Amino acid sequence: MALKRVAVIGAGISGLASAYYLKKNSQDTEILIFESENICGGKLVTSSFAGIPVDEGADSFLARVPWAFDLCKELGLELELVSPSARNASLWLDKKLQSIPSPNVLGVPLNIDSVPAGLLSSEALLRLSGEGFPDRVLPDGDLSVGQVIRACVGSEVLERLVDPLLGGVNAGRADEMSCALMAPQLLEAAHHSDGMLNHLRSVTKNADPNAPVFHTHPEGMSRIIDALTDSLKSSLRTNNRVQNIGFSEQKWRIDTENGFELVDGVLLSTPAYISSNLLQNSFPSLSKEFSSIEFASVTLITFGYSRTDFEADASQSGYLVPRESGLLMTACSFSGSKWPHLKHPDLEILRVSTGRIDDIRHLSMTNDELLNELQSDLLTTLEIESAPVDVRISRWPNSLAQFPVGHVDFVADLRDKLKHSAPGLIFTGTFQYGVGVPACVRSGKEGADQMTAFLNG
Ligand SMILES: Cc1cc2nc3c(=O)[nH]c(=O)nc-3n(C[C@H](O)[C@H](O)[C@H](O)COP(=O)(O)OP(=O)(O)OC[C@H]3O[C@@H](n4cnc5c(N)ncnc54)[C@H](O)[C@@H]3O)c2cc1C
Repeated sequence: MALKRVAVIGAGISGLASAYYLKKNSQDTEILIFESENICGGKLVTSSFAGIPVDEGADSFLARVPWAFDLCKELGLELELVSPSARNASLWLDKKLQSIPSPNVLGVPLNIDSVPAGLLSSEALLRLSGEGFPDRVLPDGDLSVGQVIRACVGSEVLERLVDPLLGGVNAGRADEMSCALMAPQLLEAAHHSDGMLNHLRSVTKNADPNAPVFHTHPEGMSRIIDALTDSLKSSLRTNNRVQNIGFSEQKWRIDTENGFELVDGVLLSTPAYISSNLLQNSFPSLSKEFSSIEFASVTLITFGYSRTDFEADASQSGYLVPRESGLLMTACSFSGSKWPHLKHPDLEILRVSTGRIDDIRHLSMTNDELLNELQSDLLTTLEIESAPVDVRISRWPNSLAQFPVGHVDFVADLRDKLKHSAPGLIFTGTFQYGVGVPACVRSGKEGADQMTAFLNG
């Protein structure tokens, strides 16, 4: 029987995970991975900053969901993974840094004694000390995170805690985010007969407060990419931008800047707006569906400050900055406090984020303007007066998919449409389960399983 051939388009974590699991599923499939850049990894990039490896995009992954950890285990990396040493974080609210109450579930405090004085009004605290029953009837099905939180614990909790925390994940607005996708545990709790707060208190009662929340690799997230590419070496086609995907005579045709390949199946692992371009000629209506997904742009600036000028609190991993502050920065991470391997001998390394779906100021700023504005924000929030010793700017335009209410159904519907009108074309990537690395690995693994079923079908 002739060897089946599958093209994977895009060698970010989603594409590489799908290729890895496809290879594991079926040794007799030839896999061709097309990547437009000369390196793999997409938004997982580690490069040297002040002599140590510091991530330019994602710097860790969530530990409480299995997919990324399981992949690391398969790659033989699990014993090398590390977790943050500092677990506390703050919010810049009312012109001061205030501790994020703990325990909390996605920002909803479960114990009012942990809420710093003045952070919430007495009315909000009174509500938080209750059961958390919604003050209106919540319809079935998906709702926005904002609708759920406003109804169960009030607008202050949403605006001052949940929105900054959840908005930090994909630079979106909690009032527009799908609760089913971004916070399924809150949606379930909101409908629970004990009330949202009671239910959350009971499910978190036995949680180990010392269990790791995040993992990373001390050599940076690129180490995971290197382990994947090592196992997929003969499949990699870097510097090979795909320009069009078509179908004729029972074969998929992949046109690249270097020629074309005919394959039996395609795992489409590029961001949705790129997938849309690739399908435009042959599948205009599918292309339109992919193009409907919105993306936020972010810029991440790494600052190195001499420790004689600024010393971060070793117990704090960093702080979030709500949009109401008007500052350009959205978050600041104290890398050396958070990760032991990023404790530089002379410098405090700060990773400062900017950009939200409704704040694109950073996009039109020159590098100098960006640095000036952010140094002014660091003066305001941390009282750093000196200039940094080292800086690095990593721009990530259109990098974080947004998930409006109903997104889960949209994805299921799109998968169905592909099955009928483009059998053998399977998508993976951030817009399925969320932007986090574990969600990307999950989409890659499931995409590989769907491809295996298709090839065997
Ligand atoms: C600043 C930042 C910080 C983040 N922090 C975290 C974090 O701490 N934890 C976490 O879990 N997640 C984090 N994320 C999210 C996470 O990094 C991404 O969602 C994830 O890496 C996306 O992976 P992907 O493979 O789906 O897409 P991508 O990484 O975008 O990969 C797509 C690949 O396709 C390639 N490509 C594009 N066009 C073509 C073409 N025409 N032909 C061939 N190849 C093409 C690209 O070059 C790229 O390599 C962060 C994201 C950003 C931007």
